[in-house]
Amino acid sequence: MHLPSRRLIIVLLTGCLFADARAQDDSIRSAIIGSALTESQALRVCRRLTDEAGGRLTGTEENRRGLEILAGELQSAGISVRGESFNFPGWIRGEDQVTIISPFRRPLRVAALGYTDSIPSFSAGVVYAGQGSAEEFASVPSKNAIALVSQKTPPGAEPLLRGEIIEIAARNGALAVLFANDKPGGLLLCGVANFQGKPASVPAFSITYEEGDWLRRLLEAGIPVTAGVTTRSRCRVLPSANLVARIPGTSGRTLVLGAHVDGWDIGQGAQDNAIGSAILFEAARLLQKFSPVNSMTIECVWFNGEELGLWGSNEYIRLHLKDSLAAMLNLDMTGSPVGFNAGGFDEIIPLLESVVQMLDGFDLRKEVDNSPGTNSDHQPFLLQGIPAINVSGHLKSEDVRFYHDFADTFDKVNPRGLAEASAVVAVLAREMANAGQGALRRKTREETIVLLRSAGIEKTLKRQKGWPFD
Ligand SMILES: [Zn+2]
Repeated sequence: MHLPSRRLIIVLLTGCLFADARAQDDSIRSAIIGSALTESQALRVCRRLTDEAGGRLTGTEENRRGLEILAGELQSAGISVRGESFNFPGWIRGEDQVTIISPFRRPLRVAALGYTDSIPSFSAGVVYAGQGSAEEFASVPSKNAIALVSQKTPPGAEPLLRGEIIEIAARNGALAVLFANDKPGGLLLCGVANFQGKPASVPAFSITYEEGDWLRRLLEAGIPVTAGVTTRSRCRVLPSANLVARIPGTSGRTLVLGAHVDGWDIGQGAQDNAIGSAILFEAARLLQKFSPVNSMTIECVWFNGEELGLWGSNEYIRLHLKDSLAAMLNLDMTGSPVGFNAGGFDEIIPLLESVVQMLDGFDLRKEVDNSPGTNSDHQPFLLQGIPAINVSGHLKSEDVRFYHDFADTFDKVNPRGLAEASAVVAVLAREMANAGQGALRRKTREETIVLLRSAGIEKTLKRQKGWPFD
Protein backbone atom coordinates (compact mmCIF):
# COMPACT_ATOMS: atom_id res chain seq x y z
CA MET A 1 0.00 0.00 0.00
CA HIS A 2 1.33 3.38 -0.99
CA LEU A 3 1.33 5.75 1.97
CA PRO A 4 0.58 9.44 1.27
CA SER A 5 3.48 11.78 1.94
CA ARG A 6 3.48 13.91 5.05
CA ARG A 7 3.12 17.02 2.86
CA LEU A 8 0.02 15.61 1.20
CA ILE A 9 -1.52 14.86 4.62
CA ILE A 10 -0.88 18.45 5.72
CA VAL A 11 -2.40 19.80 2.51
CA LEU A 12 -5.47 17.58 2.93
CA LEU A 13 -5.87 18.50 6.59
CA THR A 14 -5.46 22.22 5.91
CA GLY A 15 -8.02 21.93 3.12
CA CYS A 16 -10.46 20.24 5.51
CA LEU A 17 -9.84 22.92 8.14
CA PHE A 18 -10.42 25.72 5.60
CA ALA A 19 -13.59 24.04 4.35
CA ASP A 20 -14.69 23.68 7.94
CA ALA A 21 -13.95 27.33 8.74
CA ARG A 22 -15.79 28.42 5.60
CA ALA A 23 -18.84 26.34 6.51
CA GLN A 24 -18.79 27.79 10.02
CA ASP A 25 -18.49 31.28 8.57
CA ASP A 26 -21.47 30.66 6.27
CA SER A 27 -23.58 29.39 9.14
CA ILE A 28 -22.78 32.43 11.33
CA ARG A 29 -23.72 34.71 8.45
CA SER A 30 -26.99 32.82 7.89
CA ALA A 31 -27.80 33.07 11.59
CA ILE A 32 -27.16 36.84 11.56
CA ILE A 33 -29.33 37.39 8.50
CA GLY A 34 -32.07 35.05 9.73
CA SER A 35 -32.30 36.76 13.09
CA ALA A 36 -32.21 40.24 11.54
CA LEU A 37 -35.09 39.42 9.22
CA THR A 38 -37.29 37.41 11.56
CA GLU A 39 -36.73 38.72 15.08
CA SER A 40 -35.53 42.26 14.50
CA GLN A 41 -35.55 44.57 17.51
CA ALA A 42 -34.71 47.62 15.39
CA LEU A 43 -38.26 48.84 14.79
CA ARG A 44 -39.12 48.76 18.50
CA VAL A 45 -35.96 50.68 19.40
CA CYS A 46 -36.66 53.19 16.62
CA ARG A 47 -40.22 53.70 17.88
CA ARG A 48 -39.01 54.20 21.45
CA LEU A 49 -36.36 56.76 20.37
CA THR A 50 -38.94 58.78 18.45
CA ASP A 51 -42.20 58.38 20.39
CA GLU A 52 -40.89 57.92 23.93
CA ALA A 53 -37.78 60.14 23.81
CA GLY A 54 -38.71 62.79 21.21
CA GLY A 55 -36.65 64.90 18.82
CA ARG A 56 -33.43 64.54 20.89
CA LEU A 57 -31.73 67.90 20.27
CA THR A 58 -28.36 67.59 22.05
CA GLY A 59 -28.39 68.91 25.59
CA THR A 60 -32.15 68.47 26.08
CA GLU A 61 -34.16 66.17 28.33
CA GLU A 62 -35.41 64.38 25.19
CA ASN A 63 -31.83 63.62 24.26
CA ARG A 64 -31.05 62.24 27.73
CA ARG A 65 -34.18 60.03 27.51
CA GLY A 66 -32.94 58.72 24.16
CA LEU A 67 -29.59 57.73 25.69
CA GLU A 68 -31.35 56.05 28.62
CA ILE A 69 -33.59 54.05 26.29
CA LEU A 70 -30.59 52.86 24.26
CA ALA A 71 -28.55 52.02 27.35
CA GLY A 72 -31.45 50.02 28.80
CA GLU A 73 -32.06 48.14 25.55
CA LEU A 74 -28.35 47.29 25.21
CA GLN A 75 -28.12 46.03 28.78
CA SER A 76 -31.20 43.85 28.19
CA ALA A 77 -29.43 42.38 25.18
CA GLY A 78 -26.44 41.51 27.38
CA ILE A 79 -24.19 44.23 25.99
CA SER A 80 -22.24 46.42 28.39
CA VAL A 81 -22.27 50.16 27.70
CA ARG A 82 -20.45 53.21 28.91
CA GLY A 83 -21.12 56.90 28.52
CA GLU A 84 -18.36 59.27 27.49
CA SER A 85 -19.28 62.73 28.74
CA PHE A 86 -18.14 65.96 27.19
CA ASN A 87 -19.03 69.64 27.19
CA PHE A 88 -19.81 71.37 23.94
CA PRO A 89 -21.03 74.76 22.67
CA GLY A 90 -24.71 74.09 23.22
CA TRP A 91 -27.83 75.82 22.03
CA ILE A 92 -31.19 75.98 23.82
CA ARG A 93 -34.22 76.71 21.67
CA GLY A 94 -36.58 79.29 23.14
CA GLU A 95 -39.91 80.62 21.88
CA ASP A 96 -38.56 82.69 19.00
CA GLN A 97 -41.00 84.74 16.99
CA VAL A 98 -41.05 86.61 13.73
CA THR A 99 -44.33 88.47 13.21
CA ILE A 100 -45.26 90.49 10.15
CA ILE A 101 -46.61 93.84 11.40
CA SER A 102 -47.45 95.56 8.13
CA PRO A 103 -49.16 95.45 5.68
CA PHE A 104 -51.08 93.39 8.27
CA ARG A 105 -50.30 91.34 11.33
CA ARG A 106 -49.36 87.68 10.82
CA PRO A 107 -46.96 85.52 12.85
CA LEU A 108 -44.71 83.55 10.50
CA ARG A 109 -43.98 79.85 10.85
CA VAL A 110 -40.28 79.94 11.79
CA ALA A 111 -37.48 77.86 13.24
CA ALA A 112 -34.45 79.75 14.49
CA LEU A 113 -31.17 78.35 13.19
CA GLY A 114 -28.96 76.77 15.81
CA TYR A 115 -26.68 79.31 17.58
CA THR A 116 -29.15 82.14 17.08
CA ASP A 117 -28.68 83.95 20.38
CA SER A 118 -31.09 85.95 22.48
CA ILE A 119 -31.06 89.73 21.81
CA PRO A 120 -33.60 92.46 22.68
CA SER A 121 -36.79 92.38 20.56
CA PHE A 122 -36.92 94.79 17.62
CA SER A 123 -38.95 95.59 14.54
CA ALA A 124 -37.63 96.66 11.16
CA GLY A 125 -38.41 96.82 7.47
CA VAL A 126 -37.90 93.71 5.34
CA VAL A 127 -35.79 93.76 2.15
CA TYR A 128 -35.45 91.01 -0.42
CA ALA A 129 -31.81 90.05 -0.98
CA GLY A 130 -32.29 87.33 -3.65
CA GLN A 131 -30.06 84.33 -2.97
CA GLY A 132 -28.04 86.34 -0.48
CA SER A 133 -24.81 86.89 -2.44
CA ALA A 134 -22.50 89.81 -1.62
CA GLU A 135 -23.51 91.47 -4.92
CA GLU A 136 -27.22 91.17 -4.13
CA PHE A 137 -26.73 92.55 -0.62
CA ALA A 138 -24.77 95.48 -2.09
CA SER A 139 -27.74 96.37 -4.29
CA VAL A 140 -30.44 96.49 -1.57
CA PRO A 141 -30.69 98.86 1.44
CA SER A 142 -30.18 96.13 4.03
CA LYS A 143 -28.66 98.31 6.77
CA ASN A 144 -30.91 98.09 9.85
CA ALA A 145 -33.31 95.88 7.87
CA ILE A 146 -34.42 92.26 8.02
CA ALA A 147 -33.07 90.45 4.96
CA LEU A 148 -35.27 87.93 3.19
CA VAL A 149 -33.22 85.37 1.25
CA SER A 150 -34.53 82.69 -1.11
CA GLN A 151 -32.90 79.28 -0.84
CA LYS A 152 -34.06 78.38 -4.34
CA THR A 153 -30.84 78.33 -6.32
CA PRO A 154 -30.99 78.96 -10.10
CA PRO A 155 -29.95 75.84 -12.07
CA GLY A 156 -26.17 75.58 -12.35
CA ALA A 157 -25.45 78.17 -9.65
CA GLU A 158 -23.50 77.12 -6.57
CA PRO A 159 -25.60 77.76 -3.46
CA LEU A 160 -24.05 79.77 -0.64
CA LEU A 161 -24.03 78.21 2.81
CA ARG A 162 -26.49 79.78 5.23
CA GLY A 163 -23.52 80.63 7.47
CA GLU A 164 -21.85 82.52 4.62
CA ILE A 165 -25.05 84.49 3.92
CA ILE A 166 -25.44 85.40 7.61
CA GLU A 167 -21.90 86.83 7.58
CA ILE A 168 -22.59 88.83 4.40
CA ALA A 169 -25.86 90.12 5.90
CA ALA A 170 -24.14 91.17 9.14
CA ARG A 171 -21.36 92.94 7.21
CA ASN A 172 -24.04 94.93 5.37
CA GLY A 173 -25.69 95.98 8.62
CA ALA A 174 -28.77 93.72 8.38
CA LEU A 175 -30.42 92.94 11.72
CA ALA A 176 -31.71 89.42 10.94
CA VAL A 177 -31.99 86.93 8.06
CA LEU A 178 -35.09 84.99 7.00
CA PHE A 179 -34.24 81.97 4.84
CA ALA A 180 -37.22 81.06 2.66
CA ASN A 181 -37.24 77.29 2.10
CA ASP A 182 -36.79 76.02 -1.45
CA LYS A 183 -39.37 73.23 -1.03
CA PRO A 184 -43.10 74.04 -0.96
CA GLY A 185 -45.54 72.54 1.52
CA GLY A 186 -45.15 74.69 4.64
CA LEU A 187 -41.80 73.03 5.38
CA LEU A 188 -39.01 74.40 7.54
CA LEU A 189 -35.39 73.31 7.40
CA CYS A 190 -33.61 73.25 10.74
CA GLY A 191 -29.86 73.66 10.74
CA VAL A 192 -27.07 75.65 12.33
CA ALA A 193 -26.04 79.23 11.64
CA ASN A 194 -22.38 78.15 11.66
CA PHE A 195 -20.25 75.06 12.25
CA GLN A 196 -18.07 76.56 14.98
CA GLY A 197 -20.72 76.74 17.70
CA LYS A 198 -20.39 80.49 18.07
CA PRO A 199 -23.37 82.82 18.56
CA ALA A 200 -24.74 83.84 15.15
CA SER A 201 -23.71 87.37 14.12
CA VAL A 202 -27.40 88.20 13.61
CA PRO A 203 -30.53 86.10 14.37
CA ALA A 204 -31.37 83.73 11.50
CA PHE A 205 -34.57 81.81 10.81
CA SER A 206 -35.84 79.19 8.44
CA ILE A 207 -39.25 80.21 7.10
CA THR A 208 -41.57 78.40 4.70
CA TYR A 209 -41.40 78.67 0.92
CA GLU A 210 -44.98 79.96 0.84
CA GLU A 211 -44.57 82.77 3.37
CA GLY A 212 -41.17 83.73 1.90
CA ASP A 213 -42.61 83.95 -1.59
CA TRP A 214 -45.56 86.00 -0.29
CA LEU A 215 -43.20 88.54 1.29
CA ARG A 216 -41.10 88.69 -1.89
CA ARG A 217 -44.22 89.38 -4.00
CA LEU A 218 -45.35 92.17 -1.66
CA LEU A 219 -41.91 93.82 -1.82
CA GLU A 220 -41.71 93.48 -5.60
CA ALA A 221 -45.18 95.09 -5.85
CA GLY A 222 -43.77 98.08 -3.93
CA ILE A 223 -45.70 97.30 -0.71
CA PRO A 224 -43.48 97.93 2.35
CA VAL A 225 -43.20 95.06 4.82
CA THR A 226 -42.18 95.40 8.45
CA ALA A 227 -41.68 92.62 10.95
CA GLY A 228 -41.02 92.18 14.65
CA VAL A 229 -38.33 89.75 15.83
CA THR A 230 -38.13 88.15 19.26
CA THR A 231 -35.31 85.75 20.06
CA ARG A 232 -35.41 83.66 23.20
CA SER A 233 -33.00 80.90 22.12
CA ARG A 234 -29.62 80.98 23.86
CA CYS A 235 -26.08 79.76 23.35
CA ARG A 236 -24.50 78.13 26.37
CA VAL A 237 -21.87 75.45 27.07
CA LEU A 238 -23.78 72.25 27.88
CA PRO A 239 -22.89 68.73 29.01
CA SER A 240 -23.61 65.79 26.72
CA ALA A 241 -22.33 62.25 26.16
CA ASN A 242 -21.63 59.63 23.52
CA LEU A 243 -22.88 56.15 24.35
CA VAL A 244 -20.44 53.33 23.60
CA ALA A 245 -21.07 49.56 23.48
CA ARG A 246 -17.93 47.43 23.22
CA ILE A 247 -17.47 43.91 21.86
CA PRO A 248 -13.84 43.10 22.76
CA GLY A 249 -11.58 41.60 20.07
CA THR A 250 -8.27 39.76 20.07
CA SER A 251 -5.95 41.98 18.00
CA GLY A 252 -5.83 45.35 19.78
CA ARG A 253 -7.29 47.09 16.72
CA THR A 254 -10.69 48.77 16.82
CA LEU A 255 -13.54 49.06 14.33
CA VAL A 256 -16.00 51.86 15.08
CA LEU A 257 -19.65 51.53 14.04
CA GLY A 258 -21.32 54.89 14.50
CA ALA A 259 -24.72 56.57 14.29
CA HIS A 260 -25.79 59.94 15.67
CA VAL A 261 -28.53 59.71 18.24
CA ASP A 262 -29.36 63.43 18.33
CA GLY A 263 -31.93 65.01 16.05
CA TRP A 264 -33.80 68.23 15.40
CA ASP A 265 -36.37 68.98 18.04
CA ILE A 266 -39.30 70.30 16.00
CA GLY A 267 -39.95 66.75 14.72
CA GLN A 268 -38.97 63.31 16.02
CA GLY A 269 -35.66 62.92 14.17
CA ALA A 270 -36.96 59.61 12.78
CA GLN A 271 -35.17 59.25 9.47
CA ASP A 272 -32.43 61.57 10.70
CA ASN A 273 -31.34 59.57 12.60
CA ALA A 274 -33.40 57.29 14.83
CA ILE A 275 -33.22 54.74 12.01
CA GLY A 276 -29.40 54.74 12.00
CA SER A 277 -29.39 54.51 15.81
CA ALA A 278 -31.81 51.57 15.72
CA ILE A 279 -29.86 49.78 12.96
CA LEU A 280 -26.71 50.21 15.04
CA PHE A 281 -28.48 48.76 18.09
CA GLU A 282 -29.64 45.76 16.09
CA ALA A 283 -26.18 45.24 14.54
CA ALA A 284 -24.68 45.29 18.05
CA ARG A 285 -27.25 42.72 19.21
CA LEU A 286 -26.57 40.45 16.21
CA LEU A 287 -22.79 40.65 16.53
CA GLN A 288 -22.87 40.06 20.29
CA LYS A 289 -25.16 37.05 19.84
CA PHE A 290 -23.67 35.35 16.79
CA SER A 291 -20.11 36.68 16.44
CA PRO A 292 -18.92 37.78 19.89
CA VAL A 293 -15.22 37.12 19.21
CA ASN A 294 -13.57 38.94 16.33
CA SER A 295 -10.08 40.03 15.53
CA MET A 296 -10.92 43.69 16.11
CA THR A 297 -12.72 45.19 19.06
CA ILE A 298 -16.01 46.56 17.78
CA GLU A 299 -17.07 49.83 19.37
CA CYS A 300 -20.67 50.79 18.58
CA VAL A 301 -20.93 54.51 19.24
CA TRP A 302 -24.12 56.56 19.42
CA PHE A 303 -22.65 59.97 18.74
CA ASN A 304 -24.21 63.08 20.19
CA GLY A 305 -24.15 66.67 18.92
CA GLU A 306 -23.88 65.72 15.25
CA GLU A 307 -26.53 68.15 14.05
CA LEU A 308 -25.02 71.06 15.95
CA GLY A 309 -21.51 70.48 14.59
CA LEU A 310 -20.15 66.89 14.90
CA TRP A 311 -19.24 67.59 18.53
CA GLY A 312 -19.50 63.97 19.71
CA SER A 313 -17.52 62.35 16.91
CA ASN A 314 -14.80 65.00 17.25
CA GLU A 315 -14.68 64.24 20.97
CA TYR A 316 -14.43 60.50 20.31
CA ILE A 317 -11.46 61.08 17.98
CA ARG A 318 -9.83 63.35 20.56
CA LEU A 319 -10.10 60.60 23.20
CA HIS A 320 -9.36 57.54 21.09
CA LEU A 321 -7.11 58.51 18.21
CA LYS A 322 -4.25 56.60 19.82
CA ASP A 323 -6.38 53.44 20.24
CA SER A 324 -5.38 51.92 16.90
CA LEU A 325 -8.64 52.80 15.16
CA ALA A 326 -8.72 50.63 12.03
CA ALA A 327 -11.89 51.89 10.34
CA MET A 328 -15.26 53.55 10.83
CA LEU A 329 -18.63 52.54 9.42
CA ASN A 330 -21.18 55.37 9.60
CA LEU A 331 -24.96 54.99 9.65
CA ASP A 332 -26.71 58.27 8.98
CA MET A 333 -30.17 58.23 7.36
CA THR A 334 -29.44 54.66 6.27
CA GLY A 335 -32.53 53.54 4.37
CA SER A 336 -33.04 50.28 2.49
CA PRO A 337 -29.48 49.24 1.66
CA VAL A 338 -28.46 49.47 -2.00
CA GLY A 339 -24.66 49.24 -1.72
CA PHE A 340 -21.54 50.49 0.00
CA ASN A 341 -19.38 53.58 -0.30
CA ALA A 342 -15.63 53.02 0.12
CA GLY A 343 -15.21 56.76 0.65
CA GLY A 344 -11.98 57.02 -1.36
CA PHE A 345 -10.22 54.17 0.48
CA ASP A 346 -9.41 52.01 -2.53
CA GLU A 347 -7.89 49.14 -0.53
CA ILE A 348 -11.24 48.21 1.02
CA ILE A 349 -13.07 47.91 -2.32
CA PRO A 350 -12.32 44.15 -2.77
CA LEU A 351 -13.68 43.45 0.73
CA LEU A 352 -16.83 45.47 0.03
CA GLU A 353 -17.27 43.69 -3.32
CA SER A 354 -16.94 40.31 -1.62
CA VAL A 355 -19.62 41.33 0.91
CA VAL A 356 -21.93 42.32 -1.96
CA GLN A 357 -21.38 38.77 -3.32
CA MET A 358 -22.08 37.21 0.10
CA LEU A 359 -25.34 39.17 0.30
CA ASP A 360 -26.62 38.22 -3.14
CA GLY A 361 -30.14 37.74 -1.76
CA PHE A 362 -30.23 41.50 -1.03
CA ASP A 363 -30.84 44.16 -3.64
CA LEU A 364 -27.43 45.85 -3.42
CA ARG A 365 -27.84 47.16 -6.96
CA LYS A 366 -25.50 50.12 -6.59
CA GLU A 367 -22.75 47.74 -5.41
CA VAL A 368 -19.63 49.71 -4.43
CA ASP A 369 -19.24 53.48 -4.81
CA ASN A 370 -16.02 55.26 -3.97
CA SER A 371 -16.79 58.90 -3.23
CA PRO A 372 -16.01 60.52 0.13
CA GLY A 373 -18.55 62.90 1.65
CA THR A 374 -18.67 65.28 4.61
CA ASN A 375 -20.94 66.60 7.36
CA SER A 376 -21.65 63.44 9.25
CA ASP A 377 -19.79 61.58 12.00
CA HIS A 378 -17.39 59.82 9.66
CA GLN A 379 -15.80 63.21 8.86
CA PRO A 380 -13.46 63.45 11.89
CA PHE A 381 -12.24 59.91 11.09
CA LEU A 382 -11.77 60.73 7.39
CA LEU A 383 -9.72 63.82 8.31
CA GLN A 384 -7.35 61.51 10.23
CA GLY A 385 -6.99 59.23 7.20
CA ILE A 386 -8.96 56.44 8.90
CA PRO A 387 -11.00 54.40 6.38
CA ALA A 388 -14.52 55.83 6.73
CA ILE A 389 -17.14 53.70 5.02
CA ASN A 390 -20.84 54.31 4.48
CA VAL A 391 -23.74 52.00 3.69
CA SER A 392 -25.67 53.53 0.79
CA GLY A 393 -29.39 53.33 1.43
CA HIS A 394 -32.58 54.41 -0.26
CA LEU A 395 -35.26 56.53 1.40
CA LYS A 396 -38.44 57.49 -0.46
CA SER A 397 -38.27 61.08 -1.69
CA GLU A 398 -41.83 61.78 -0.47
CA ASP A 399 -40.65 60.86 3.05
CA VAL A 400 -37.15 62.30 3.02
CA ARG A 401 -38.47 65.76 2.09
CA PHE A 402 -39.50 66.16 5.74
CA TYR A 403 -35.88 65.91 6.86
CA HIS A 404 -34.97 68.42 9.62
CA ASP A 405 -38.65 69.37 9.94
CA PHE A 406 -41.83 68.71 11.93
CA ALA A 407 -42.90 65.62 9.97
CA ASP A 408 -39.68 63.59 10.25
CA THR A 409 -41.70 61.19 12.40
CA PHE A 410 -41.90 57.46 13.10
CA ASP A 411 -44.71 56.87 10.58
CA LYS A 412 -42.13 57.38 7.78
CA VAL A 413 -39.95 54.48 8.98
CA ASN A 414 -39.85 51.45 6.68
CA PRO A 415 -39.67 48.28 8.87
CA ARG A 416 -38.38 46.11 6.02
CA GLY A 417 -35.60 48.58 5.18
CA LEU A 418 -34.61 48.72 8.84
CA ALA A 419 -34.36 44.93 9.14
CA GLU A 420 -32.44 44.56 5.87
CA ALA A 421 -30.02 47.34 6.77
CA SER A 422 -29.36 45.68 10.14
CA ALA A 423 -28.50 42.38 8.45
CA VAL A 424 -26.25 44.06 5.89
CA VAL A 425 -24.48 46.21 8.50
CA ALA A 426 -23.86 43.27 10.85
CA VAL A 427 -22.45 41.08 8.05
CA LEU A 428 -20.27 43.91 6.71
CA ALA A 429 -19.05 44.83 10.20
CA ARG A 430 -18.10 41.22 10.87
CA GLU A 431 -16.04 41.04 7.67
CA MET A 432 -14.36 44.37 8.46
CA ALA A 433 -13.64 43.32 12.05
CA ASN A 434 -11.78 40.25 10.78
CA ALA A 435 -10.03 41.88 7.82
CA GLY A 436 -6.25 42.00 7.47
CA GLN A 437 -4.15 45.16 7.82
CA GLY A 438 -4.01 45.72 4.04
CA ALA A 439 -7.75 46.14 3.45
CA LEU A 440 -8.02 48.87 6.08
CA ARG A 441 -4.86 50.86 5.52
CA ARG A 442 -4.79 54.29 7.07
CA LYS A 443 -3.84 57.16 4.77
CA THR A 444 -0.94 59.46 5.53
CA ARG A 445 -1.63 63.14 6.10
CA GLU A 446 -0.46 63.90 2.54
CA GLU A 447 -2.63 61.14 1.02
CA THR A 448 -5.61 62.41 3.01
CA ILE A 449 -5.13 65.95 1.71
CA VAL A 450 -4.89 64.65 -1.87
CA LEU A 451 -8.13 62.65 -1.43
CA LEU A 452 -10.02 65.58 0.12
CA ARG A 453 -8.75 67.96 -2.54
CA SER A 454 -9.67 65.71 -5.47
CA ALA A 455 -13.15 65.07 -4.03
CA GLY A 456 -13.87 68.81 -3.65
CA ILE A 457 -14.02 68.43 0.14
CA GLU A 458 -11.16 70.86 0.78
CA LYS A 459 -13.27 73.64 -0.74
CA THR A 460 -16.39 72.70 1.27
CA LEU A 461 -14.51 72.52 4.55
CA LYS A 462 -12.70 75.79 3.93
CA ARG A 463 -16.07 77.48 3.32
CA GLN A 464 -17.32 75.96 6.59
CA LYS A 465 -14.11 77.14 8.31
CA GLY A 466 -13.38 73.52 9.19
CA TRP A 467 -10.26 72.74 7.10
CA PRO A 468 -7.71 71.46 9.62
CA PHE A 469 -4.59 71.23 7.44
CA ASP A 470 -3.34 74.84 7.18
ZN1 LIG B 1 -28.06 62.94 10.26
